[in-house]
Amino acid sequence: MKPLAARTENLEQSFIRAVSKMIEATGGINLGQGICDLPTPEPIRRGAREAIEAGASTYSHFAGIEPLRAAILEKVRSYNRLPATSVDEVVVSVGSTGAYMTAILALLNPGDEVILIEPFYGYHRGLLRLIDAVPVYVTMHAPDWTLDFDALERAITPRTKAVVVNTPANPSGKVWTQQELERLLAVLRQYDLFAITDEIYEYMLYDGREHVSLAALPGAYERTITLSGFSKTYNMTGWRLGYAVAPAPLAARMGLLGDLLYICAPTPLQHGVAEAFSMRATYFAEMQAAYETRRRLLCETLEAIGFDVPWPQGAYYVLAGFAPLARTRPGFADDLQAYETLIREAGIGTVPGRAFFANPEDGRYYLRFCFAKELPVLEEACRRLRDAFG
Ligand code: GLN
Repeated sequence: MKPLAARTENLEQSFIRAVSKMIEATGGINLGQGICDLPTPEPIRRGAREAIEAGASTYSHFAGIEPLRAAILEKVRSYNRLPATSVDEVVVSVGSTGAYMTAILALLNPGDEVILIEPFYGYHRGLLRLIDAVPVYVTMHAPDWTLDFDALERAITPRTKAVVVNTPANPSGKVWTQQELERLLAVLRQYDLFAITDEIYEYMLYDGREHVSLAALPGAYERTITLSGFSKTYNMTGWRLGYAVAPAPLAARMGLLGDLLYICAPTPLQHGVAEAFSMRATYFAEMQAAYETRRRLLCETLEAIGFDVPWPQGAYYVLAGFAPLARTRPGFADDLQAYETLIREAGIGTVPGRAFFANPEDGRYYLRFCFAKELPVLEEACRRLRDAFG
């Protein structure tokens, strides 16, 4: 038989997913994949049930049902302060991953270079490779994850087309400040680059930090594709509903690409998620407080057992360092060994650090822990960690 497509040859299961499989098999607690197993709010579930009963079973417009697009438009104007004015600038997608795929397909030719900020979310890189775009890395360093703007400029070549910004960031928890985004915008303008901003964790912020959207800065909107979605904010990762906001001509291209790839996002689920916008305003404050508690619990536990813990500024992951443990304890020689040790000795799943770095060596002394769990489950996980390693 002839070989399968060359583009599939190097595909492998992501570490993020592999840990879930492993934990399912061993019955441990999964702090690996950012699944978020808190309950989906009732109004959203009811909205979907009603839409299913009412027979909303056919394709929607490829860019989403009108009321949902209108609600997203209103949200990005008020919360993100984007200067969007029309639903033509809003594209509903199958997850923010679907939006990211249409964004990169809309922007990039094979060979175009895209800057990823490292540590990065692996799917950002994997999808670039799939379409023969070339990721180029600029590294941020713990504990404060500041970006070296000189390194950013050095990474730019005539082939560079775009920069991917993830704020709050997975896995580092970095929240980009307005000043950083202004400096980034100056670079984007100087070199005529696009930005794709993945803002899926935009409501998970700690210590009073605020979320700033790049596209809200004067002069940024025209060169920015803003991505977000419902998975994380409303605990519905399996519904696969996300969206992109971009200037109308760009959004139109992305809509057409989404149409080709998957026709539309699931129609009854779009009706359900439209209910998200009628929920009480206190929802976000309560969610933040709940995550603050979980962040503290996990970070304090990890510190107590000897990890270096840069407390995340946002999102719901901790990228914890274990270089000190590597010197003092067996089973922590590198991230793969530490990952196995935590499963074997505590029944805790994590993601090995190498999943987030171009050079696996750079992730050698990191594990990523996710704290989007029901509190009793996270408490049990922390107990197990202390029992095994305290
Ligand atoms: N974004 C989530 C994570 O980083 C999950 C998405 C995925 O399974 N790739 O864990």
